[in-house]
Amino acid sequence: MSILAVTGVAGRQIEVPTGLFIHNAFIPATNSLTVENPTTGETLGKISAAGPEDVDKAVSSAILGYEMWRDTAASTRSKLLFRLAELIERDAEELASLEAVDAGLLYNDSMQMSIPQSAATLRYYAGWTDKIDGKTLEMDGGVAFTYREPLGVCAAIVPWNTPLMITIWKLAPALAAGNVLIIKPSEMSPLYAQKLATLIREAQFPAGVVNIIPGDGTSAGRALSEHMLVRKITFTGSTATGRQILKAAAATNLKRVSLELGGKGPSIVFEDCDLENALLWTRIGITTHNGQICAAGSRIYVQKSIYDEFLRRYKDIAANSPVVFGDPLDPNTTKGPIVSRTQHEKVLAYIEQGRQCGSRLLFGGERVGKKGYFVQDTAFVDVPEDATILREEIFGPVACIVPFNTEDDAIRMANDSIYGLSAAVFSNDVNRTHRVTRALDAGHVTVNAWAMLSSNVPFGGVKESGFGRDMGEDALESWTSVKAVKYAIAPAKL
Ligand code: NAD
Repeated sequence: MSILAVTGVAGRQIEVPTGLFIHNAFIPATNSLTVENPTTGETLGKISAAGPEDVDKAVSSAILGYEMWRDTAASTRSKLLFRLAELIERDAEELASLEAVDAGLLYNDSMQMSIPQSAATLRYYAGWTDKIDGKTLEMDGGVAFTYREPLGVCAAIVPWNTPLMITIWKLAPALAAGNVLIIKPSEMSPLYAQKLATLIREAQFPAGVVNIIPGDGTSAGRALSEHMLVRKITFTGSTATGRQILKAAAATNLKRVSLELGGKGPSIVFEDCDLENALLWTRIGITTHNGQICAAGSRIYVQKSIYDEFLRRYKDIAANSPVVFGDPLDPNTTKGPIVSRTQHEKVLAYIEQGRQCGSRLLFGGERVGKKGYFVQDTAFVDVPEDATILREEIFGPVACIVPFNTEDDAIRMANDSIYGLSAAVFSNDVNRTHRVTRALDAGHVTVNAWAMLSSNVPFGGVKESGFGRDMGEDALESWTSVKAVKYAIAPAKL
């Protein structure tokens, strides 16, 4: 078995197989992906990349896996999901190291967020395997009952930003509901998935229940979206790619699609908030993982009466918070790189547009160093409503701060976006927070904080942020279909 070795936290050598994970074996492919370390821009090595013929192999394996998995006892499915959670925790340092060297996610962030969230999600859905029930329905002339049945062979196409956590958001409910899953990780961060594959094998999931096939979106991703025997695609990524997947599903077998797409999250700061708290969370909301989070609070709307004070203190906090740029593996680093050269160039181009659009640069705006893909936390203020930086998802650490007068203005401005994924509201007036959270076009609203992920709470968007939900009971809906069985009951013969 061919192996790729990388250096992880504290100099530890980590080895992952390079092959495609099909039917519980690592098999080489004709094509390969070059894996890059965004901290240095250097190549870490190559791993196999799936083409359409490999996708066919993965689907054939998944069909066999499904025959077994659909009839596997719920208690066994649960036990395997629990076991995978334990293995992820056991090998947390390796997984977090791989997310750091490959996706540029801070090792500390992975250890504190990605790993515990992944384990918690597996355990949450492990508890669901025997609770996915139908209903009994009274009917004229008889009785009906419903089953919630798995869909069959499903596929998850996932992004690079918090790759393990997002993959587990798909894997755990899919398997709990009796489906089998083919995972296509992003070509920009495939290493965590190679390690995950070894854990799936060690946990002893039957062959074909999970196949993992890294590859390019336009090759492996497209082949999955067009495949006639794949019954569902769950996708997290950009809105542009989401459209392609939906088109492919429509043009082929009308497979189910759920889309978790981009965002341009508003954070609304009212004059009656706890300002200290609002300053903390609005900063975290756009600087965490360099703003490379779909739920990032990239539009900050502040009520006029506190606008000047907010700006002064927001700038002071940025100036007085020492940022340590560097290797995300180093526990002292507080700011890692942007994921790739392309993404780095894109963020810098948006910053340039910000300088030209009539807004004012409050701080930041510069590339950091010559090696790797680093950029300063950046804030623009008084950003015009039609500015591109206020309307498009930047996926970088760039905040747009805008004043508003009234509650109605704030709601109108926050909803003036093609996106509707995540929002945050800062106010200590409970009536106001109720009114505003209900009025916002968003699938997910946080009050007096930012994000707060929890495995039992659904996450997903409205408008061009997509449809379908990850996590919580609601996600299970999209992994099952309802079968109604009707019984005619003949009257007793007299
Ligand atoms: P992307 O759309 O470029 O890629 C995502 C995945 O889609 C990758 O695995 C890629 O290989 C694949 N892909 C690309 N073209 C494809 C095609 N034609 N057919 C099938 N698959 C294809 O997104 P990205 O750059 O990896 O991630 C960043 C985007 O993801 C941002 O827009 C961000 O907001 C979004 N995102 C959303 C959420 C959410 O939960 N809503 C979470 C994280 C990221």
